[in-house]
Amino acid sequence: MRVLVSDCLRGVACRFDGSSKPSRSVKRLCEKVEVVGVCPEIAAGLSVPRPPAEQVGDRVRLIDGSDVTEDFRRGAELSLDRARSRGALKKGAPLAVLKGRSPSCGVGLVYDGSHSGRLIKGDGVFVRLLKKEGVCVVSEDVVKACEPSVEHPVALVLGSGLGHLAKLVRPVRRIDYHDIDGFPADATPVRDHRFELTIGTIDEVPVAVYPGRIHLYQGYSAAEVTSLVRHARHLGCRDIVFACATGAVTGNAHVGLGILTDQINLTGRNPLIEWDGIRDVETPFVGMVDAYTPYLRTLARGVADDLGIAVDEGVYAGVLGPCFETPAEIGMMRALGVSYVGMSTVNEVIMAHALGMNVLGLTLATNESGDPDTSHESVLEVAGRYASDFERLVRGVLHLL
Ligand code: SF4
Repeated sequence: MRVLVSDCLRGVACRFDGSSKPSRSVKRLCEKVEVVGVCPEIAAGLSVPRPPAEQVGDRVRLIDGSDVTEDFRRGAELSLDRARSRGALKKGAPLAVLKGRSPSCGVGLVYDGSHSGRLIKGDGVFVRLLKKEGVCVVSEDVVKACEPSVEHPVALVLGSGLGHLAKLVRPVRRIDYHDIDGFPADATPVRDHRFELTIGTIDEVPVAVYPGRIHLYQGYSAAEVTSLVRHARHLGCRDIVFACATGAVTGNAHVGLGILTDQINLTGRNPLIEWDGIRDVETPFVGMVDAYTPYLRTLARGVADDLGIAVDEGVYAGVLGPCFETPAEIGMMRALGVSYVGMSTVNEVIMAHALGMNVLGLTLATNESGDPDTSHESVLEVAGRYASDFERLVRGVLHLL
C-alpha cells in the first residue's frame, strides 16, 4: 500500500519555522507501507524558515498580510503531480496522512487567519485537490486515534461462519457473555457462535474478540443486541470490526468478501431510542455520516489489493428477519443501491458510532440474497471456503493499525 504523507510528520524540517512535527503514530504506519513524502510549501519554492501563513477566506496570507495564494496553489499542484507520478493516487485505496490545521495540509479544520491558534472548518489547499481526486485524506490525529494498545484493544465482533478468527488469539482473559451488563441472561448461541469474549493478542496486536452475537429476530431488543458494543467501549476499545455473513444483492455485489461503505437500517429498531442512561452517549440525535470510518475502510481495501484478495465494496441493508427477502424486496434494495443484506450489524454500528468508535465493517456474502436454498449449513460451507482470505484480510488490517 502506498500512502502520501506530509514530510513534516515524518520528521523533515520543512515547517515555516524550520522545525518538523513528527508523529509517532504516523512514523509507525510509515514503517509498514510504501511512503510518498510531500511538502507542498517546499514544492512551491518557499524558503525555510519562512513567515507563517494562514487561510483568510479563500486566500492564503502571510502574517504581514501579503497574499501567497498562488504560491500555495502551485505547490499543491506540483505535489499532486508528484503523488500521481509515484503511484500514490492509483485507483483502489488512495490514502493521504497529512499534518492537520495547516493552510496546505489541514483536513477538516484550518487556522482561521488570525494567527491566534483559533480554528475554523475547512480544508487546506492541497487537501481540496486530493479530495477532488477521490483520495481518503486524514490527519495524524486519526491515525493516532485508531492505534491499538493494551488499554485500547481492537474489538472484533464475529458473525456466522467467521468465529474461527477467535482461535488466533493468544488469550489473556476470557469473559462469559452472561457476565456482560445488558446481555440477556437466557441467551443461548446459534450453532457456530460462542458466547465467550477472549481478550488477548493477534500477532502482538491487543484485541477483544466476541465470537458470536444475538439478533433482533431472536426476540431481543436493540439495547440487548448492542450490549457487546457498549461492553467493548467500556473495556477501552476505540476500533471495532464487525464481521457478518450476508446475502449479495444480485447486480450490485457478488458472493465473497466485501467491505461495508454505509448502511440502511430497515430493522425498524434503533438502540438510541433507549439512549438515556447509556454511558458516553449524550444525545440520541447522532449524525451518521462516515459511520464506517473511511480511514479503516481504505486500509482494508489497501490490504486486500496488496494480498490479491478479491473484495467488493458496498452498502449494507440490515433487516429484522428471520425470513429471507422476497423478490420484490430484493428489487427494491437493488434500486436503492444496496449491495449486501443481513440480519445484524446495523444497530451495532449505530451504537458504536454514537459511542465515538472507529468502525470497520467486513462481510462475507455467502449467497445471492433471497436464494431459497440458503441454510445455516450452506452459509457455513461458503464461509469455510473464504476463511483463509478473511483471516488474511483481518490480520493485514490489524498489522497496519
Ligand atoms: Fe509542508 Fe504540509 Fe508540513 Fe506545511 S504541513 S510543512 S506544507 S508538509
